[in-house]
Amino acid sequence: MLSVHCPRHAAEVLLSERRITRIAHEDDQLTLEWVCWCGYRGSHRTGRRAPRSTIV
Ligand SMILES: [Zn+2]
Repeated sequence: MLSVHCPRHAAEVLLSERRITRIAHEDDQLTLEWVCWCGYRGSHRTGRRAPRSTIV
């Protein structure tokens, strides 16, 4: 499961792995592209260097 912030929901939403459309490796970070239950497409960065203040 993946927790992301959806602007359309204006809240954190919990997505299953099936909602992840792409996984890209950039530097030491993973960029996940996802589709929310409402249809909104967004991306989310994760990884050991990701600061907690990352704007998603
Ligand atoms: Zn949403």
